[in-house]
Amino acid sequence: MPVPTITTLLPRHRGDPYDLGPGGLFLQHPALAACPWLVHGFSLRDRPALGDSSFGQSGEDVKPLPIQTDFVTGPAGKNMILVRLRQCHSDGVVCLDRLAPGTLPAEGDALITHRSGLLLAVQVADCLPVLIVDRSKRILAAVHAGWRGILAGVVPRTLARMQSRYASDPGHCLAVIGPSIGPCCYEVGRDVAAPFEEAFRGRPELWRDLQSPGRAFSAGTGPSDNPGNSRRMLDLSAACRCQLENAGLPDKSIFSHPPCTCCNRDAFYSYRGGRGSTGRMLAAIGKIC
Ligand SMILES: [Zn+2]
Repeated sequence: MPVPTITTLLPRHRGDPYDLGPGGLFLQHPALAACPWLVHGFSLRDRPALGDSSFGQSGEDVKPLPIQTDFVTGPAGKNMILVRLRQCHSDGVVCLDRLAPGTLPAEGDALITHRSGLLLAVQVADCLPVLIVDRSKRILAAVHAGWRGILAGVVPRTLARMQSRYASDPGHCLAVIGPSIGPCCYEVGRDVAAPFEEAFRGRPELWRDLQSPGRAFSAGTGPSDNPGNSRRMLDLSAACRCQLENAGLPDKSIFSHPPCTCCNRDAFYSYRGGRGSTGRMLAAIGKIC
């Protein structure tokens, strides 16, 4: 089977532009690819036609595999060390300059480093992988943020740690929210909607209300004036963008329109699309110099 193109892989995607990495094995965002001192990638679901079934693995406890390092580093970074956390939907942030070898994996949902040679990775299947770069000081972060992590503030907490530990300036940072479930597919119940309404007051862009199945989505207003039969669709990327803006990132440096994992299940694993049983993908970033 031929290597797909970005168009055949994501035929319905109309958001941020992505490119296929070498061999068609992972996606890259042009804003990060423009930094010659780093490598990054968002892995795709495994495609047996490409001869590799170990790209994604089932379950939460995914063990490191050499192939997952290879997917993003390529020749430039083949000696990099892949670092992951035991993710727990928390606001836990780990700065890697503090950890001695052998202590990993720690528990948490965000990794930061100023060191080269480390490939920071988070694993996702619908949750948001957020890769953050301070282009001035060359500080990197990889964040796993689902709805719990966003409410817990893992993204702003990561930026705060970048500032306090490395004197990072949010004005010099860029953030890319990678493939994750979109508002087209992310219906939530009151248990999720209520805390988001509370935490993101006056931000209607987080919501789309689907009046009935099969109709076009319309922009939501607020939960209190919903008709009883409407379905609440939450835009986690928009919530994350709010947090990044509030933390001081320039609007033009935030890329928050990724492809939807649930809409593009030929390309991605989707926890919701797979009804809870699915593999995980890696999003990774590392300094090469
Ligand atoms: Zn979707």
